[in-house]
Amino acid sequence: MFESLSDRLGGVFDRLRGRGALTEADVRGAMREVRVALLEADVALPVARDFVDKVTEAAVGQNVLRSVTPGQQVVKIVSDALTEMLGAEAAELELGVTPPAIIMMVGLQGSGKTTSTAKIALRLAKRQGKKVLMASLDVNRPNAQEQLAVLGTQAEVATLPIVAGQQPVDIARRAVQAAKLQGYDVLMLDTAGRLHVDQALMDEMRAVADVAKPNEILLVVDSLTGQDAVNVAQNFSEQVPLTGIVLTRMDGDARGGAALSMRAVTGKPIKFAGMGEKLDALEAFDPKRVAGRILG
Ligand code: GDP
Repeated sequence: MFESLSDRLGGVFDRLRGRGALTEADVRGAMREVRVALLEADVALPVARDFVDKVTEAAVGQNVLRSVTPGQQVVKIVSDALTEMLGAEAAELELGVTPPAIIMMVGLQGSGKTTSTAKIALRLAKRQGKKVLMASLDVNRPNAQEQLAVLGTQAEVATLPIVAGQQPVDIARRAVQAAKLQGYDVLMLDTAGRLHVDQALMDEMRAVADVAKPNEILLVVDSLTGQDAVNVAQNFSEQVPLTGIVLTRMDGDARGGAALSMRAVTGKPIKFAGMGEKLDALEAFDPKRVAGRILG
């Protein structure tokens, strides 16, 4: 992931480091190249502009240019700004509540929502020893509930028994009750997706959130859709109090625009990155590590 941005920035940095002295014009020239590289990576225009303005100000304003290693210092300023753009600190799940902690998964159909539900459940069960229950509230897509049950069997995570004909809000109620009565630490609710953001989806999501009172509402978006992913996130966050983003298909994303713009545009942290189809292909999103990967 981020291959093209990484290559472009690498070139700019090599040129900066290769010079003994730097003028303000050199820095401004390099920052123009950084701006183009960000835009080619599909970073939102205002985000790229802010980034370059901030970095330029820091690089020409301080005593950077008069220092012994100006190129090195400019690279450090870019690296810090990139980490900040990605969200600065890794954002953890908020599970420190009286159990069960409830995690509600929302997103468009095909974003990787059901897979991500099972991936997070598996991670909580395996790494943190949590007792996890999953429930699918998707009564629209044929076999959606069965799909989660199959993933549950693969991940060795319990799923709520399916009751034919039950509606999402009632399933949510039953799931919360089962999780409480049976002593689960975490309940994961996989809600229905739609092909587009629409009012019916939003209404159903809000009704479920009212009943389940989730501690986390995670939006799942496909990083391959670039700026669309960011727009979808903005739409959802206007309707429900999102606590974080799961960015899927990062394994195939050579550009990285969604990851780079998400925090600045929506204010929401990316909590996990989907890195493949397998259930263990999920990483906690750590801005420092991701920035390190981009900068090589
Ligand atoms: P949903 O409709 O949002 O629930 O989407 P699904 O969870 O059914 O996922 C749709 C497809 O995307 C499936 O084939 C998944 O295996 C695949 N998928 C999900 N997450 C990832 C990911 O992070 N990387 C890759 N390469 N594929 C993924």
